[in-house]
Amino acid sequence: MEKPLFQHEKPSPNLSPRHRSDCFDTLHKTMVFDFSKTCKTYDATSYKKDVFRQTKCPKCPAVGRFKLHGSYYRYVVYFRRDNCFDKSELVHEFFEIKRIRCISCKATHAVMPCDIIPYKLLTLLVVLITLDLLYLKETPVLKIAELWEFSHQFIYSVIAAFLVHVDKIYMYFRETSCGTIGHGLSKNDIFALIKEPYIEFQRGYLETNRRACFMCKFINRAGAPPMGVCAPLGDSNITFA
Ligand SMILES: [Zn+2]
Repeated sequence: MEKPLFQHEKPSPNLSPRHRSDCFDTLHKTMVFDFSKTCKTYDATSYKKDVFRQTKCPKCPAVGRFKLHGSYYRYVVYFRRDNCFDKSELVHEFFEIKRIRCISCKATHAVMPCDIIPYKLLTLLVVLITLDLLYLKETPVLKIAELWEFSHQFIYSVIAAFLVHVDKIYMYFRETSCGTIGHGLSKNDIFALIKEPYIEFQRGYLETNRRACFMCKFINRAGAPPMGVCAPLGDSNITFA
């Protein structure tokens, strides 16, 4: 018997007024990333106000002046285990995201696990494994689509996200490599610069560019939402893959 496309971790909850059905990040443009949590370890209900006492507001100079402000839901796709990239390990989850509100500027921020790519369904590791198959293992798109049981358009959207960011990825490594990255690198070469632990790449990229890598929304427009880094206290040395 065919395996289901995804394993659903949780049923869709009944949404209370404080958990409105805005399942996308669009209404919560400002974000802080919790680099102590991935989708596997994140629990929106576990946050206490005190956790954010060293977090800087992405929209104003205030530090640690937050109160908890409900939550919202969105979908994510991630691998259940770090060392198993079989499709049976892909989890498609209706995922609760915590929100906090700055007491100083009244802005509301989504508290994101560090492997979520804003406005994207696939999490960072799923994107990178897909790109690894494409660019380094030279696997055909249709073969990957079959492997993940994604539509091939979905794979092309991953390629498009990479192509939108490839020059910025190159510049990020140029700026952070102390001159060891040369000129004339191919797209494959540039992708190969992204090493494990991948979340350290995302963290560095986010700190440098003030936006998450592979996030395509607002890429060609001014006014992209400010993003905070390193939100709560906790182990910032988390790794995966
Ligand atoms: Zn603020």
